[in-house]
Amino acid sequence: MPLPALPVLLACPPATPNPAVTVEVVRTAIMHGDWSQVVDDGTRGPVDLPALVGIIHHPDATILVDSGLGLESRAGRYPRFPLTLLGDVTVPEGEAIVERLPEPPDLVLMTHLHYDHVGGLLDLPGVTVWTTDEDWRTYGGLAIGFPPRLRNGVDWRPQDMGAGRATQVLGRPAVDVLGDGSIWYLSLPGHTPGAAAVLVRAEDGPWLFVGDTAWVDQHLAGARRPWLTRTIIDARIREEARSLDWARWMKAECPELRVIAGHEPSLSAGIASTPRP
Ligand SMILES: [Zn+2]
Repeated sequence: MPLPALPVLLACPPATPNPAVTVEVVRTAIMHGDWSQVVDDGTRGPVDLPALVGIIHHPDATILVDSGLGLESRAGRYPRFPLTLLGDVTVPEGEAIVERLPEPPDLVLMTHLHYDHVGGLLDLPGVTVWTTDEDWRTYGGLAIGFPPRLRNGVDWRPQDMGAGRATQVLGRPAVDVLGDGSIWYLSLPGHTPGAAAVLVRAEDGPWLFVGDTAWVDQHLAGARRPWLTRTIIDARIREEARSLDWARWMKAECPELRVIAGHEPSLSAGIASTPRP
């Protein structure tokens, strides 16, 4: 049964169940930080932020959203200074993405190329990886935190998200990942110049991975990263604010849509698609 078309303009994706596709969200690593670096609403105190990865099970492919941190981080070899200044990282036994999958994925969709999203690729040599043209131009070379051996270690396929050459979905430039309308790679720039989101139409309705446009659910509800954090972390602050507004609108207006923030602590134990009764 073909899926109904997605709206071009800003609107909720149809909640039509698509029994062929399921989604899981898993933790790969724990980043130990403090709430005062994460939100600007006055919250203080230690927080364990998970490095989350989405696993999309489609009949034709197993597809990841990001790769988290992996075995190199458990061994203390990645990330290196100066990123180690950001805090300690723990990769619990059995939680790296390469340990969670029975075989390598067919494709990895990157929301952006920061170190805590690309690290798990070091354990997946040769895997096909989508990023955007703009993030590839920014980070694919000698950027801080991008492991030099990753440049040729996986099969990078930068996607052209330019308006006019990509389809518009939910008000954003979009690429139909498998050509069947079930998984969409959307432009959501700002946190990095070419940041992306992933929309999945699964058996329990639509899921939206917004990467680090929102780190935590509070960012989707009104809090922001503190000014200093934004200045250091967000490549384009105004563009990030517009993308965050879009993500907030989607979450607030679309009750059927599950919006997944990149490091939401309540997802540390993982969640998965639940079939509708
Ligand atoms: Zn991150």
